[in-house]
Amino acid sequence: MTTPTLMDYDEALAKYEPVLGIETHIELGTASKMFCGCPTEFGAEPNTQVCPVCLGLPGALPVTNRAAIEGIIKIGLALNCEIVEWCRFARKNYFYPDMPKNFQISQYDEPLCVDGHLDVEVDGETYRIEIERVHMEEDTGKSLHVGGTTGRIHGAEYSLVDYNRAGIPLVEIVTKPIVATGDRAPLVARAFATELRELVRSLGVSDVRMEQGSMRCDVNVSLMPRGASEWGTRTETKNVNSLRSVERAVRSEIERQAAVLDGGGRIVQETRHFHEDTGRTTSGRSKEEAQDYRYFPEPDLVPMAPSRDWVAELRASLPELPAARRRRIQAEWNLSDLELRDVVNAGAVDLIEATVAQGTDAGAARKWWMNELSRRATEQGVELADLPITPEQVARVQAMITAGELNDKLARKVFEGVLAGEGTPDEVVAKRGLKVVSDEGELSAVIDEVIAGNADVADKIRAGKVAAAGALVGAVMKATRGQADAGRARELILEKLGAS
Ligand code: ZN
Ligand code: MN
Repeated sequence: MTTPTLMDYDEALAKYEPVLGIETHIELGTASKMFCGCPTEFGAEPNTQVCPVCLGLPGALPVTNRAAIEGIIKIGLALNCEIVEWCRFARKNYFYPDMPKNFQISQYDEPLCVDGHLDVEVDGETYRIEIERVHMEEDTGKSLHVGGTTGRIHGAEYSLVDYNRAGIPLVEIVTKPIVATGDRAPLVARAFATELRELVRSLGVSDVRMEQGSMRCDVNVSLMPRGASEWGTRTETKNVNSLRSVERAVRSEIERQAAVLDGGGRIVQETRHFHEDTGRTTSGRSKEEAQDYRYFPEPDLVPMAPSRDWVAELRASLPELPAARRRRIQAEWNLSDLELRDVVNAGAVDLIEATVAQGTDAGAARKWWMNELSRRATEQGVELADLPITPEQVARVQAMITAGELNDKLARKVFEGVLAGEGTPDEVVAKRGLKVVSDEGELSAVIDEVIAGNADVADKIRAGKVAAAGALVGAVMKATRGQADAGRARELILEKLGAS
């Protein structure tokens, strides 16, 4: 394997204009498979979720899963597609060991959903990604290549195959060519994958977990010289399985193709593999044409003709979609565009919303999740949602603050305790003795000591320099290890020094 020569990214973009296309496969979270009753749970013992239909045994006949069709129609509607009145499944013929029937039931020239779009935002600018088609198909099984160093078949000693995944409902979403994104092409590709994942998750039809392969992106990239009107030859980087990798794969292909073209070479139409470790792509197989698959209408299944009433019913059942939800919370929580983007990027929308649902003021909920808790998540290298604290607990801490039982400083200690596994906020407060000192007698005694120990400051306050009281409040807070009510301490100090 030769290491490809790369051109500097900025130089590549100065000379060439990228054109992208993204094909995304999403496994639906139905209880059973696309054309049989086998269960679909992830991670079961190999080859325990199979039957004659998904193993393609002679005489077995497929039956379409209605829940899967509901799922794909919801995705199509959410992507602003037209749901066609009549379409068919098609056989896509090829041999691969992980595909027991030696064909995949897919859709070819008659997809179920066509002509949609999804808007994505990068650096405050909106890009409309046109959707060519959304079609229904079935997943393949999984090969496991054992004994090599890369997990690929090359260099392996033997291979095993697991058909549990064979026949799981798979939705394929194909964009139209994405043009005029310039040097933002990798970011636009990532933003599309991110928005699509959010959209499908909001519909509740898939868990869209890229790390488990329930969402996988194939990224097509071609370059044309600046000013040219004819697109270049594209490559297709297959099965990219993280959002970050989508961005890196596009970037890497731009750098590689620019170097090839600049050196007078030609781009070969082929599939490529993306390598997480190097961030580079390597050549896969030369790309086959549609005719190689000898598509023909699937003779074992009747055509699909979703009634207009059913489609209307599904449209009415759609939940609030992510873009609309973002606009709503921006208004409700009174956020600037930048604040909204920060909250979204931090993965804090659900957490803040759940905290607000417990009666917490939106500003306070956002403050805790975006500052204190985000900082701790970053420190621990985990996602905000994976911190061992719930919105209910955050709401409880804020309620104690509102009730005057905690101040912000003590609240941080409560969060620290909850995150350290010391229990609920109330348990942490009890165990650590974290109550604001509200006993007037005790507070008064501490203030007397502080005044006696800071006679010069006290004199200034007596002489009318009220601003100097801050130093004494600080000393009171120190003496009480942060547990005094700072506001009440200030009042008492001014009262005692005749300055109130
Ligand atoms: Zn089956
Ligand atoms: Mn496909």
